[in-house]
Amino acid sequence: MNASADDFFKAAMLDKPRDTNNKVGSNVTLVNVLQLPGLNTLGISIARLDYAPLGLNPPHTHPRATEIFTVLEGTLYVGFVTSNPDNRLLSKVLNKDDVFVFPEGLIHFQFNPNPHKPAVAIAALSSQNPGVITIANAVFGSNPPISDDILMKAFQVDKKIIDLLQAQF
Ligand code: MN
Repeated sequence: MNASADDFFKAAMLDKPRDTNNKVGSNVTLVNVLQLPGLNTLGISIARLDYAPLGLNPPHTHPRATEIFTVLEGTLYVGFVTSNPDNRLLSKVLNKDDVFVFPEGLIHFQFNPNPHKPAVAIAALSSQNPGVITIANAVFGSNPPISDDILMKAFQVDKKIIDLLQAQF
């Protein structure tokens, strides 16, 4: 009864390039239920993705959403990994206008292989609150950190390597 058109509206400026000047060279602008309350219960959201030349959207997963992804500009090498025990990498080089789907919960990434040109994509996600878990940040940058003993055993490497990885986050 109290809803208005503005609850279903967001001047998101998704046509505008975003700043990709960061360590990985990418930027995700997500419009989810927190930005657009009218999405609540509807099971959908949208994101703009910007990639610098050689920019990476690092391996991550959405625990509550499948993602359908379309390239607006440039070229992107994309992929996802299937679940245990096969852990198959399904990957492809996408060009402008191509569409790819990342199934719910699976680890996926996008990389711009062009050293000269940026890339842009739009993604739709099948949840108003897809969630995102960036693998490296979750494993090596948790707060507080996962103990060295756990990570040494999990990755079968020594403490130096774990400390080096943790130091990046
Ligand atoms: Mn994603």
